[in-house]
Amino acid sequence: MTATTDVLVVGGGSTGTGIARDLAMRGVDVTLVEKGNLTHGTTGRMHGLLHSGGRYAVSDQASAEECIEENRVLRDIAGHCVEETGGQFVQLEGDPDEYFEEKLEGCRECGIPAEVLSAEEAREEEPYLTKDVKRAIRVPDGAVDPFRLCVANAVSAENHGARVETHAEVIDLLGDDERITGAEIRHETGPGKRSHGKSGETEEIRAEYVVNATGAWAGRIGEMAGVDIEVRPSKGVMVVMNCRQVDTVINRCRPKGDADIVVPHETTAILGTTDEEVEDPEDYPEERWEVDLMIDELKRLVPILGEARTVRSFWGVRPLYEPPEVGSSDPTDITRDYFLLDHEERDDLHGLTSIVGGKFTTYRMMAEEISDHVCDQLGVSATCRTAEVPLPGSEDESVLDAGMDRFGLRSPVARRSTQRLGSRADEVLSSVEPNPVLCDCEAVTRAEVRDAIDQSGTDLNAVRIRTRASMGNCQGGFCCHRMASELHPEFDEPQAYAALDDLFEERWKGERHALWGEQLSQAGLNYALHSATMNRDRDPADREEAIAFGEFDGGQRGD
Ligand SMILES: Cc1cc2nc3c(=O)[nH]c(=O)nc-3n(C[C@H](O)[C@H](O)[C@H](O)COP(=O)(O)OP(=O)(O)OC[C@H]3O[C@@H](n4cnc5c(N)ncnc54)[C@H](O)[C@@H]3O)c2cc1C
Repeated sequence: MTATTDVLVVGGGSTGTGIARDLAMRGVDVTLVEKGNLTHGTTGRMHGLLHSGGRYAVSDQASAEECIEENRVLRDIAGHCVEETGGQFVQLEGDPDEYFEEKLEGCRECGIPAEVLSAEEAREEEPYLTKDVKRAIRVPDGAVDPFRLCVANAVSAENHGARVETHAEVIDLLGDDERITGAEIRHETGPGKRSHGKSGETEEIRAEYVVNATGAWAGRIGEMAGVDIEVRPSKGVMVVMNCRQVDTVINRCRPKGDADIVVPHETTAILGTTDEEVEDPEDYPEERWEVDLMIDELKRLVPILGEARTVRSFWGVRPLYEPPEVGSSDPTDITRDYFLLDHEERDDLHGLTSIVGGKFTTYRMMAEEISDHVCDQLGVSATCRTAEVPLPGSEDESVLDAGMDRFGLRSPVARRSTQRLGSRADEVLSSVEPNPVLCDCEAVTRAEVRDAIDQSGTDLNAVRIRTRASMGNCQGGFCCHRMASELHPEFDEPQAYAALDDLFEERWKGERHALWGEQLSQAGLNYALHSATMNRDRDPADREEAIAFGEFDGGQRGD
């Protein structure tokens, strides 16, 4: 199997999908390949903070300026993926005054709106803050949904003619010591309705130019090309709490340290994080003490976190990059800035550029810079439009309000559905009657689940990411089976059961680190619901012969 394209983008995270969108909008023929599903890498495992730049206002002002610029752009083009929570940098009694002043000054120097709040004002805004608050700085931090934003970029790229291929891993690069001319891809049959090649089948994609947007994996693509890319992967833990203990992003205002941020996300709060260099972006220890550290440290800021229940924990790996001559020993010292590595200039190898480092918040800017560079190489003169053209689903808020009224849905379900669906709310919510809520914790309705199934087929994990169903307090205890039922009758019984098992397994993976005390009883309840209520431990679908339900109904078997 062979194919050709102008530009092959490797990596389906925020950076890769952002580049694919940008180039496709400029009329370039683009193919994007991603070895897992979109957001499979770091983009699907981050904190969800839309940085105002305040975090970097002392340590890295260039990054801080980029953050505030992109923060404004994303609110404009992707309002449906951003929650404007605002943020506070909180100084506790005993935290250094000088640093607070430096932070305030730094924010002002970088153009980040910053307002000092007294302890009373800070606690009035966030009542669960500790009484030890001395004062705070209010900044325009936000919460961002990386899954929806990334998918919106991919959809926009496709709408502009791009080919987006998931479950397609680059296993080698084509070309020689002087020029890269494409890549060899191995297809897997990913779940869902997207058409992938057959499992194990390979395809050669010949390209005029290849962009390596594989983040923490960039060094591996570099090895295939025979060039060194010094990515320094650094892991961080995040802990999801049972409800939204704060409505504002809460940052500890101190020089640097682990466990400094609480981000409210939909109906939860996410605590984070750590920064520890690892060898392998896919294989590193995930340890219980890291979870404990989040709670122990952050309850000093928000004491109620010490009483609250954790629902899951997860880890991500930063694609940090540092030019070899710097050689920092502490990963927290490595810059959060991004680097465009033109391998022609750097290694005398034509046809390949890598983009490494950076943040989710600045993905669009990174994509713009690399797309400018690629267009220069290809002689394309079209300019970037991604900062002005809204992403699919975000065009017109009044469409959302109208959708809310028309369907008579009450808040928060309507608000949530319309926020998730953007301008598609009308179309999706009118397609199913009646439309009950299937996921109580996240207020996801049947219409949304069915719409996501139309797009993702049997991949209930993709349905979860599109809708948030099963990502709330009960971690799917009460809704996994409802989601699986929606697969029937389009898909048959074994497919529905297999999809349910996959979804359940994924939920369990993140829960197991959080099991102690009362959390165990929640896990016990989930176990009971699925094994007893749903009879999954004695599943009729696994039996060779069918159950004679009629005999029970007719009262012939009383046993
Ligand atoms: C703990 C943590 C918290 C963070 N919190 C925030 C935050 O709150 N706000 C913020 O702005 N930023 C945050 N970041 C940073 C941000 O998440 C990353 O900078 C960003 O997601 C990187 O996106 P990316 O597209 O470059 O990489 P990725 O999302 O990792 O995408 C690279 C993709 O390449 C794919 N790939 C790899 N090898 C191959 C191959 N051979 N063939 C095909 N595909 C391949 C991978 O599967 C992956 O999906 C955080 C990072 C971490 C680790």
